Amino acid sequence: MTEQTAWADRYAGSLMNTFGPPQRVLVRGEGAYVWDADGNRYLDLLAGIAVNALGHAHPALRKAVDEQMATLGHVSNFFATPPQVELAERLLGLVGQPGKVFFTSSGTEANEAAFKLTRRTGRTRVVAATGAFHGRTMGALALTHKEAYRTPFEPLPGDVAFVEYGDADALAAAVDETVAAIVLEPVQGEAGAIVPPAGYLAAARRIADEHGALLWFDEVQSGIGRTGAWFAYTASGVQPDVLTVAKGLGGGIPIGACLAFGAAADLLQPGNHGTTFGGNPVSTAAALAVLDTIEADGLLVNATTVGDRVRERAAALPLVADVSGAGLLIGIGLSAPVANEVRDRLLARGIVLNAATPQRLRLVPPLILTAEQADEAVDALAQVLAELAAESEVVGEVAAPADRSGGED
Ligand code: PMP
Repeated sequence: MTEQTAWADRYAGSLMNTFGPPQRVLVRGEGAYVWDADGNRYLDLLAGIAVNALGHAHPALRKAVDEQMATLGHVSNFFATPPQVELAERLLGLVGQPGKVFFTSSGTEANEAAFKLTRRTGRTRVVAATGAFHGRTMGALALTHKEAYRTPFEPLPGDVAFVEYGDADALAAAVDETVAAIVLEPVQGEAGAIVPPAGYLAAARRIADEHGALLWFDEVQSGIGRTGAWFAYTASGVQPDVLTVAKGLGGGIPIGACLAFGAAADLLQPGNHGTTFGGNPVSTAAALAVLDTIEADGLLVNATTVGDRVRERAAALPLVADVSGAGLLIGIGLSAPVANEVRDRLLARGIVLNAATPQRLRLVPPLILTAEQADEAVDALAQVLAELAAESEVVGEVAAPADRSGGED
């Protein structure tokens, strides 16, 4: 029995079976690489699903956490701490709008705060999009589109309408004076790095304004530099009323934030909401170090250049139907339902990515990924796709393994 199978057996005996058996048992990480319990190395193109923005064991992040722990650790929310205030100011500065911030420990929780905030408008209806993922707690799940996630937990909080993502006419038809908010991912992450048509976010802004609804962007996956800009919506020139972020913000330390601007910033009042861990000094200090490092090391530009390079090279590979996304939020659409097989074969070669759907690979590597590391991944992908293309010529079609796509959040 290997070290890994021993851990996997113990995992099976002690952890709830919510994600299925672990693909590997990881014990160490450094930069863009992780190692399993048997000593095998992997190039990590998932980064905790868009979390480890600075890669693994980054010295700046370790230093910030260590120094803050040595100075002041957790305190109750009845007190404030400098890193909390500094991070709130910093995030508002990145958006460039006056507003207010509520800190949480995850993306889902940031969305729960935003969802509650929208109820304080006096309206209840929220319009969300097909393909949307906003989290797995009951409120966030009510806004998440995937049937397989929703069905076992119905009834979910009501008054949510779904419209086709990217279709401005469908959005216009769904929004009226009963709608509290429109919630959209400016680039959809779990759906496979899907970018809406140009003008869609601007249309959403117009439609929200016409009916007095809030416009809420969920940038839990796409935000904090992932797409080569601080926020994916920036390119559209549109300002949301509510913005949720998490994942990359803490670089691996749990933190999320719900930002609200203008009149929306004062919708939550004392007594309306709370959390024990949100905004604690250690996670906020960690997030400040992440923002500092993204800035100091030019990681926004790196995300754009390395991401574009992956898309350009991947587009020319066999079985690739299209490439999508922006920066290092990368989708690779395949012409056959072989994404799970591609993921499994790449894992065996030491490359970690995931299948967003049976026909779409998703890559969300650390923002520090170098061009050489990206090439290493694309070269391995090219080999696997060539293998599969050759096999499909021989047998007519490639055997599709059981669908384990998605579900990794
Ligand atoms: N919103 C989006 C857009 C996400 O991609 C995710 C996670 N995949 C969430 C919310 C939920 O975040 P968390 O897992 O941190 O609760």
